[in-house]
Amino acid sequence: MERVDVAIVGGGPAGSSTAHAAASGDADTLVLEKGVPRADRDGLGPDSTDAAGILNYWVDIMGIHPDEFPDDVVQRELNRAEFRGPTEAATLYDTGIESSYDAFGYTFQRARFDDWLRERAEEAGAEYRVGVSVRGVDTDLDASDEDAPRHTLRLADGEAVGADFVVLADGPQRTVTNRVLDEYLPAGRGGSDRLAPPEANHIAYQEYRRVPEAVYEAVEDAIVFWWGVMPGETAYPWIFPNRDRVCRVGLTMPIGMDIDDFDVDAYELLSADDESIPGGAEYVRRLLEWQYGDEYDVEEDFPLVEDAGKRGGTETYPISSTRPIDSPTDAGVAVVGGAMGTTSAFHEGGDHVAVRTGAIAGELAAGGDLASYNRRWKEAIGDEVVRNVTMADMVADYEPADWDRVIGAADAMLAMEADDGLLAQPYRSGWESLKLILGYKWNKRKTKRDYVTIAEDEYVY
Ligand SMILES: Cc1cc2nc3c(=O)[nH]c(=O)nc-3n(C[C@H](O)[C@H](O)[C@H](O)COP(=O)(O)OP(=O)(O)OC[C@H]3O[C@@H](n4cnc5c(N)ncnc54)[C@H](O)[C@@H]3O)c2cc1C
Repeated sequence: MERVDVAIVGGGPAGSSTAHAAASGDADTLVLEKGVPRADRDGLGPDSTDAAGILNYWVDIMGIHPDEFPDDVVQRELNRAEFRGPTEAATLYDTGIESSYDAFGYTFQRARFDDWLRERAEEAGAEYRVGVSVRGVDTDLDASDEDAPRHTLRLADGEAVGADFVVLADGPQRTVTNRVLDEYLPAGRGGSDRLAPPEANHIAYQEYRRVPEAVYEAVEDAIVFWWGVMPGETAYPWIFPNRDRVCRVGLTMPIGMDIDDFDVDAYELLSADDESIPGGAEYVRRLLEWQYGDEYDVEEDFPLVEDAGKRGGTETYPISSTRPIDSPTDAGVAVVGGAMGTTSAFHEGGDHVAVRTGAIAGELAAGGDLASYNRRWKEAIGDEVVRNVTMADMVADYEPADWDRVIGAADAMLAMEADDGLLAQPYRSGWESLKLILGYKWNKRKTKRDYVTIAEDEYVY
């Protein structure tokens, strides 16, 4: 049987970053990526579905400056984020978090980004095998014989690979992760059911559309989110700019919602005739009609870019929307990136934390001891996770009117800041922004104690 020091399941940002770090630490490292066809890549590669936006301080969390990328990775440098409610709007020109990257953020070509991470790992000495699906992992914690590996990865082609350490980077579907975790979670306590895709994930859908010149000029430096216009916890559409007048127009929403649970009239993107929650493509059409339909013929003036994305200019992929989990490190197993639930349910940012958790796991696996992984990832990304979990919790029950209230308050607060602290709109900004800030601080304190879905001490070996 083939033998390696570190075997990695999944070759997205988390898996490739694990591989780069492990191989840089001289470990014999193998990435197994099942391979996904995409219109914007020759041959198979990782899944690579992503709106692909990075905020300035994420650059430092990721630990990779965009200057390191080849020219075809970064699409647009950003100077702001726009938050639009049903009627209110607020524009943020500063994330308010210190960063070594000067602009507000950037958008990037995710397939090229993933390919570059793969090349970086290969240059460090890792092997990246694509078109190979992992079925499961058998573990013998008592294996002591040189020839009997601690882990045996069973591959779909019938082959097997032995490894001392397994890093699970199989993304939000967690097809392998959940089965491995069940080995260490006592029955009756929920096991990995807590991470079952329909409950733990949102579904995301996006389209690549070439937009009219005037529309592009208005959004080419911005990421734009709409809140309170479609039903569901942390459900929202967005527009992110790429190069050449192409934008990603997409949305995320919980899986399996029932339209009867919502007041159809309250949501801009629902219609009184809807008998079920609309699908992603219908939502995108309605968003574009709502925003631009008065001036443009949306179908003609915002054509799909058919050679972009996964297929026909569209793509669908789940997003993990749980809180993160600790890993069963005593078994020589680390879970990283989307599989461990690091993607933010609030804004979907997940590449920076995927790269960082992968880098930590790879470094430790190469050093022969994963014991400090759960502490190290919390030190590296704990603040970011708490921030995102807190925000997602705070807005979980928001109705459209709540969004208008909060976005209106934020707008007033930002106007005050721009005015050098002068109370331009005393009642609105004073009370509402105070509530906003106090709520956040209180929730953050609460979340800080309790932001891990499966804690290290729940694993039994
Ligand atoms: C529509 C959308 C928009 C997003 N927008 C942003 C954004 O703007 N900014 C941001 O930072 N993040 C964003 N995210 C989140 C980001 O994409 C994820 O956080 C990130 O992809 C996580 O990386 P990962 O390597 O952990 O997982 P993934 O990128 O999901 O990679 C997992 C890989 O594992 C492979 N795999 C799965 N099972 C197996 C198996 N059994 N055997 C072998 N291989 C397997 C898959 O093919 C896949 O390539 C977005 C996500 C989506 C879906």
